Order: sequence, then structure tokens, then C-alpha cells
Amino acid sequence: MSTTIRAEAAARRTFAVISHPDAGKSTITEALALHAHVIGEAGAVHGKGGRKGVVSDWMAMEKQRGISITSAALQFSYDDCVVNLLDTPGHADFSEDTYRVLTAVDCAVMLIDAAKGLEPQTLKLFEVCRHRRIPVITFINKWDRPARAALELLDEIEERIGLRCTPLTWPVGPGGRFQGVIDRRGDEDGTQNAMAHFERTPGGTREAIETRLDASQARERFGEDYERAVEEVELLREIGATHDQKLFEEAVTTPVLFGAAVANFGVRQLLDVLIKHAPAATDRADIDGTPREVDAPFSGFVFKIQANMNKAHRDQVAFVRVCSGRFERGMVVTHAESGRPFATKYAQSMFGASRDTLDEAFPGDVIGLVNATALGIGDTLYVDKKVTYPPLPSFAPEHFATIRTDDTSKAKRFRRGIQQLDAEGVVQVLYSERRGDASPVLAAVGTMQFEVATHRLSEEFGVPTTLDHLPYELARRTDAESAEKMKRAPGAETFVRARDGVVLAAFLNKWRMQTVKTDYPGIMLEPLLAQA
Ligand code: GDP
Repeated sequence: MSTTIRAEAAARRTFAVISHPDAGKSTITEALALHAHVIGEAGAVHGKGGRKGVVSDWMAMEKQRGISITSAALQFSYDDCVVNLLDTPGHADFSEDTYRVLTAVDCAVMLIDAAKGLEPQTLKLFEVCRHRRIPVITFINKWDRPARAALELLDEIEERIGLRCTPLTWPVGPGGRFQGVIDRRGDEDGTQNAMAHFERTPGGTREAIETRLDASQARERFGEDYERAVEEVELLREIGATHDQKLFEEAVTTPVLFGAAVANFGVRQLLDVLIKHAPAATDRADIDGTPREVDAPFSGFVFKIQANMNKAHRDQVAFVRVCSGRFERGMVVTHAESGRPFATKYAQSMFGASRDTLDEAFPGDVIGLVNATALGIGDTLYVDKKVTYPPLPSFAPEHFATIRTDDTSKAKRFRRGIQQLDAEGVVQVLYSERRGDASPVLAAVGTMQFEVATHRLSEEFGVPTTLDHLPYELARRTDAESAEKMKRAPGAETFVRARDGVVLAAFLNKWRMQTVKTDYPGIMLEPLLAQA
């Protein structure tokens, strides 16, 4: 049994794509799924059995609704491995959830638009990867279009985020004249500078046609474009920009690949690199830092909660990353925070696609548990041998709003509701001396978190509320002493975060923060996680 679990864990590759909107995340997700055999999606399907649909439906639904209500993970098999691609919601639904997904992965693919380079959302998501020391594979996308120079893009990555780039493929032809890539992985087996030439299939809806050319064939066909690529590859070799598995796993270096997701160019190479180099699911440290072995009895933690926005029945789905052991549908697990049993008999409806294939799950997999109102973000579930995983971090809020109820008869319910939302991590709840305990301030990474909060207060707690947005755009961590000093600073306000007692200073904008820093020398202002 234990060897099976170890083998299953070793075959898992669990990752997420970090990117800025429009870099091509949806396109590459479809392309990856196209190259592999899609097993299933861990989406929340209420009461519906059977197949929910294929990948394109998953994407279509996301597009249609503008927010990803149901999707959490896409699972596919490739080359003896089981790949779990966790969704990082972006665009309008960018929220703390987006960051939290990164607590549940073992690797990230940083997707970059070749014409734009590093963009703000990518940088913020990368900060979370850095914090967790998650190995990052870089995919430079849209090479079929005019792009910045490849070496310049590498420089930007090294300078701005400090990851050393070790390209595994190198483009032949500048952006817009994408002939293929030199496969640097061939360096080891003596096929130095061999090239994979890409050709589009009509419409790009199928895998690209790939022809392998040795150095002389490539030179003959692509002349100057190929020569230039070889020169650059030589340069990379000279400066030691060569993949080193250990340094990659320590998140010191990032393997870089070039491609065009829309034409499926370079996507197979990305999959191969994920399979060969991305870390498998391994032992995970508990709250005391002791590793729980992957073949220990089942355990996992909740990294995302999806409240049902449906009026008719109050329910929520908890998405759990399996950390150890085998999960079997119907299992009764223990909720570490309350010590209570939690029955997973409804888990049958939790997997989007063909339910028979996913009656069990292994380390690295994601399971969605319905009827999970008792579970909160970061909570641990286990069987037999107790374990508690560390709580999930809070992230730098960028939106602030006061919330109140005008119905004084509901003050108590209002308080209870706010507490519940805070416990579940729906929003961050802040208090300040000036405003008083009856006037909490909500803080969030994305405004959709506010919508969820007010909706749930009205539907679940029967409390109508009024939200007033505050003009603050950023926050820093501070302390009580500094907060006292900043008391009268214009364009700034300090709060205590209910969840962890951290003192936060919110500012109208960066310039205002700068002024406050100058006016009150010596005050403490530290960046929060995933700070803009
Ligand atoms: P997302 O917002 O990151 O999910 O981005 P999408 O996958 O929706 O892509 C945004 C736009 O870029 C769409 O119009 C895509 O067709 C286009 N796109 C994605 N990948 C490529 C690519 O490799 N080359 C080109 N030319 N366009 C691409």
C-alpha cells in the first residue's frame, strides 16, 4: 500500500500558471490539455453526476461568467505522470484566492508575453512563489508576434526578480518569425544545437507539426536566423546559464522556454520539462515544521472555499490539497481545528468529469468537498494520525471599505457574520480605535471579495449592509508605536487586523506613503506579502 502511495505521489506534478491577464493563460491551459489526455476537473458540481464536459466547456464557462465559479483544478495524464493544473483566477475575480492557490502547488509556470515582459500581476504572484520558495518554470509566450529580444527578456527577469535564467529552449528567428527552437536539452546526448522546427496546423487547433533537424539541416534551412540563435546559445553556455536541477528546486534559477501557445508551439516541450524537472508531491511540513510523509495516512488542507452564490441552498465547497495518503470517497476524516469528524460521502459529486475515475486521490491532487460549511481556509483534515498544517498567510490588501448595517436590531447577527467571514478568509476584517468596534473596515485583494461578503451577510445572516469604499490603495505592516505617531497623518489610517492582530497602515497612494515616511522619520513600514 505504502509503495503504491509513494509511487502515486512521485507521479504527481501539481502546478499553477502565474501571469498577467491576456498573457495567454487560458490558451496555454487548452494547449496543455490538448497535448495530454484530460482525466478530470476538480470543480464543484452540485448534485450532477457524470461528465460535465470537456476542457473547452470549462474555459467557455469561465469566459461566459467572467469569473471562475466552478473550476479549481484540471487533471490530466501525460507520460506516466498525473498533472494537476490549479486555476489561478485573474481578471475581475482576482482575489486572495488567487494567491492562496499558490500554497497548494509544488511548482509554478510563469507565463510572459514576449512583447511585454514582466507585468504587475505576474510580479505579485511571483512574490508569493518566492515566499514559499516554489520552483518556477518560465514560458515566454507569443513568439509568433513581434517581441522584445530574447536576451533582453532574460535580463529583465534577472534584474527585477532575481531569478537566474537557464533557458532549455532558444528561439530560432526573432519574435514574429518563429521557425522553431534550439533544444538545449540535447546538449547532454551529443545532439548539440539540434532544432525543433514548428509548423502550424490549420487553425492551430491540433498539436503543431514538429520536425527535428540536426545542426547542418537547420543551418541550411534557416541560415542567419539559426546562426544567430546558435551564437546566443553559445553565449548562454559561456556565462553558465545552464539548467541545474538542484538550483532550480531551490528556486535560485528558472528554466526558460519559448513558444506560442496559440499555435501550440513549444507546448510539448513545456509538458516534457514539467514531467522531467518539476518536483513531485513530497512530504509536507506541519505547523511545527515536522514533515508529514507522503505515505502517512490521509491528510490535506483547505486552500480555497467557494461559497454557493445560489439563494436556494446555503452551501460551500472546500477545495483540499491532498498532502499524504490515499483519499477515498466516503472516508470519514477529522477536522483538526474542531476535532470533529467530517464525512466525505457527498464527495461523489465533487469531481467535474467522469466520477468513476476519481474515487480516490493521492498527494498532489485536489478534492472538492461539498457541504463543507464547517471548514475554513487553511484548515487541516486527516485520518488516524493527527496533523495540523500551518495557517495560510494573509496578503497585502489593495481595497478597503467600511461596512455597516442600518438595522440596529440586527447588530448581533452582523457581528457574528463579520466574524464568520473573517474566519473563513472571505475578507480581512480591520478595526481602528477611531472608528470603534461597531464599525469594522473590510480589506481585500480584489473587490469581488466585498461582493461575496455582502451577499453572504444578506443571504446567510439576513443582515442588509451598506458598503462605502475608502480611497486607500495600499497598505504596509507597522506597529502600535508607529501607528500612534502617524495618527494625524493626512491620507493615511492605521488599523488592527482581527485575524492576527497585525497593525496595518493604509495609504491613499504611494506618494502619500512617501510623504508620511518623510514627515515621521523612523516609523516602521514593512511590505506585506505580494505587495505591489
Ligand atoms: P489570459 O487572459 O491570460 O487567459 O489570456 P488568453 O489565453 O485569453 O489570451 C489572450 C489573447 O492572446 C487571446 O486573444 C489569445 O488568442 C492571444 N494569444 C494567446 N497566446 C498567444 C500566442 O502564443 N500568440 C498570439 N499571437 N496570440 C496569443
